[in-house]
Amino acid sequence: MSQSKIYFGAGPAALPQSVLEETAKAVLDFNGSGISLLSIPHRDKAFQAIMDECRDLVFQLSGLDPDDYEVLWLQGGGRQQFAMVPMNFLPEGGRAGYLDSGHWAHDAIANAKYYGEAVVLGSTRNINYTRLPEWPAHFPPDLHYLHLTTNNTIYGTQWPNVQGSPVPLVADMSSDMFSMKRDYSRFDLIYAVAQKNLGPAGVTLVIVSKEMLDRTVRKLPDAFSYKAQAAAGSLLNTPPVSAIYTSMLVLRWIAARGMDRIEADNREKAATLYSEIERNPLFDCPVETGSRSLMNAVFTMPVQGQEAAFLKFASERGIEGIKGHRSVGGFRASLYNAVRVEDVAALVTAMRAFEEIAD
Ligand code: PMP
Repeated sequence: MSQSKIYFGAGPAALPQSVLEETAKAVLDFNGSGISLLSIPHRDKAFQAIMDECRDLVFQLSGLDPDDYEVLWLQGGGRQQFAMVPMNFLPEGGRAGYLDSGHWAHDAIANAKYYGEAVVLGSTRNINYTRLPEWPAHFPPDLHYLHLTTNNTIYGTQWPNVQGSPVPLVADMSSDMFSMKRDYSRFDLIYAVAQKNLGPAGVTLVIVSKEMLDRTVRKLPDAFSYKAQAAAGSLLNTPPVSAIYTSMLVLRWIAARGMDRIEADNREKAATLYSEIERNPLFDCPVETGSRSLMNAVFTMPVQGQEAAFLKFASERGIEGIKGHRSVGGFRASLYNAVRVEDVAALVTAMRAFEEIAD
């Protein structure tokens, strides 16, 4: 059995068919144990093996050195990371830099203000985030870190390459984790909610350098302390066992394809869709060319009333999940790793067919 729809949702997002099948099997009987994946104990050897494999795969895919970084699997989603970063690393009266590239970046800034001063080093809020802010020319030397969102899920912008910074770099990679090759060693802390490129909702991957952990600025309850979570191997409380298991299957799937192919496919999917948006007179992309995301293609239909008609037209062809975020409208096709080249071809075919019937 397989999903009957072509799904472009922004998250929770499409997962590879093989991952769905293996998860379904494990839900009924985990590894021939006679017990469901949903019931296996988290302090069992079998679950520790899952955690170990997840960690190994993260190091393999990121190229980071296990001597220098910790891999954590936490709950509370992106929003909890918005709070945990300043809680752990921004002292009262201290300053942290933030790049305001969209809704989620803005939310991260709001969270930092509970703990210290958030210095906005670049923002494109006044142009509705249709391009990325400039990379800062100067970094105030007293910044405890610089936070950025590598891919802006709602606005469809993405930093392809991030330059180094003289202060520790913290990145929200929720919507483009392991979608392209990156120099991950530029970052001191990376977080990514699983429900886009890594697995189902319920777990967040955090990669944090040991050097950064040493910069922890205050005592915190264990649940909110990266250090305590690292010391407990992310098993401080009962972890979301099934979400971590499925994330492991996705990481295996990414590793089996290899980052070269993953990136090449993602580039091909995005190029196919953006070139149709450019060619087709019915569609328009509000995002400046140099800032366009490989992961979330945002587009509109300038003629009033056509958007609802195209949504219905696409849906009749089995295409779902392309409605834009409620705050920007229009369309958004999320082209995460599990979305196939042929899925994008089907969307482009629908856009062409709609052009033919529209007057
Ligand atoms: N950061 C980014 C880039 C996101 O796209 C999202 C959610 N779509 C979040 C953070 C928030 O994640 P959560 O809903 O898990 O809090």
